[in-house]
Parts: sequence; C-alpha cells; structure tokens
Amino acid sequence: MTARLKKYQQKRKFKVTSEPKGKVKKTTKKKLIYVVQHHFATREHYDFRLEMNGVLKSWAVPKQPPKKANIKRLAIQVEDHPLEYASFKGTIPEGQYGAGKVEIWDNGTYTLEEKTKNKLVFNLYGKKLKGEYSLIRFRPPKGWLLLKNK
Ligand code: MN
Repeated sequence: MTARLKKYQQKRKFKVTSEPKGKVKKTTKKKLIYVVQHHFATREHYDFRLEMNGVLKSWAVPKQPPKKANIKRLAIQVEDHPLEYASFKGTIPEGQYGAGKVEIWDNGTYTLEEKTKNKLVFNLYGKKLKGEYSLIRFRPPKGWLLLKNK
C-alpha cells in the first residue's frame, strides 16, 4: 500500500469497484492535470481534483464549481486520489464507499501560481472552467473555499 494513498485505498474494495487502485507517480512533466467529476452519490456533489506531488489533491464541492468571477463555493478536502482517477467514470456499486454514478464534468490542465499552507492560486485550462481560481482554507483542516478570481 502506498502511504499517500492509504486512506483512498482503505475505503475501497478493488475487487468490487471498478475505480483504480492507483499508485503514486513521479511528477516529471510540467503540465499538471485538473479534473472535476460529477458524483451522484447519496449527496450529489462535484469532486474537484488537482495533480500535486504525484497524486490528485481532492475536494468535494456540494455545488457546481463557479464559471463566473466572485462566486464562492464550499470545498471540503477529501483523501488524495491516484492520478489514474482523473479518467475514471462509471458507477461505484451499491454498498461501496461513494456508491453512485461518476461522470467527468470538466478536465484539462492547470498551472500553479501560488501555494501556501492555506492558499492555492492557479490557472485552469479546462473546457468549462478557465481562468484564475483560488482555494482558501478558512476552516482547518478540511474546510476550504473555491472561488474564481478572474
Ligand atoms: Mn465524490
């Protein structure tokens, strides 16, 4: 088991779900991937993911991520996911963690502009989401706000 994906792997039975087991990748490429999955779980939400240090840093966003500036969305940080998860779509079986349909809502690349413990600023180059965004941790450890700056 890979330490950084331990939480992710512990929550899932890979014999039952078609989600990838995953492993931490070495990041050598400059273009970082970004994906938003629309997850029809018990509570429908969007999973916002950014490639960082060989995994996908992940946040569950209850409402659709903003396409327009000055709209804020609550974003709850969840366990890191493997990079392969960026292409996952399908249905997580009943009784499994996160059971329900997963669709890819948006994807593309991003550039990291600023990173501190409680703030990330980045440019998204997606199909639906484009431009500068921030994630700001306002309620540690897991409470963040996702907002479009411009
Ligand atoms: Mn989810």
